[in-house]
Amino acid sequence: MENDSLTDKLKKAKDRFKSILEKNKNRKTPERFAILEEIYLNQTHFDAESLYIKMKQNSYRVSRATIYNTLDILVECDLVMRHQFGNNKTLYEKSYGFPEHHHIVCEQCGYIREFTDERLNGIVEDAAQLPNNEINRTALNIYTSCLDQDCVNLH
Ligand SMILES: [Zn+2]
Ligand SMILES: [Zn+2]
Repeated sequence: MENDSLTDKLKKAKDRFKSILEKNKNRKTPERFAILEEIYLNQTHFDAESLYIKMKQNSYRVSRATIYNTLDILVECDLVMRHQFGNNKTLYEKSYGFPEHHHIVCEQCGYIREFTDERLNGIVEDAAQLPNNEINRTALNIYTSCLDQDCVNLH
């Protein structure tokens, strides 16, 4: 699934979203699917407000409440992951069918790099061995400062 194209991933995410909405008797509104599509095709790490602005620019009639409410559902469905990267801003990213990864975050400009490292697998496996517990997800955030006064303009 990780090698699927973006449109394949979107299709699988839509199928999952559809069946979970049906199961929970939530309404399957076109706005909710448009939000999912925008996230899967165009967004990397984003906040709710910029998603709202983007949807408006694309001429979708969505309210902020719809954005927040849909993001909550998408997080519950494991289609979107919610991040707190130290600042007060909550960021989101698509997750279904995408490989797990970790983040390096510049505290000055907010620039985010992703990385994976197999050395972390051993630590996670050890944690999985603890009795009476199962791992839901792992997250490692490394906070950095770009060593340049101008870091915002570097990226
Ligand atoms: Zn920076
Ligand atoms: Zn990421």
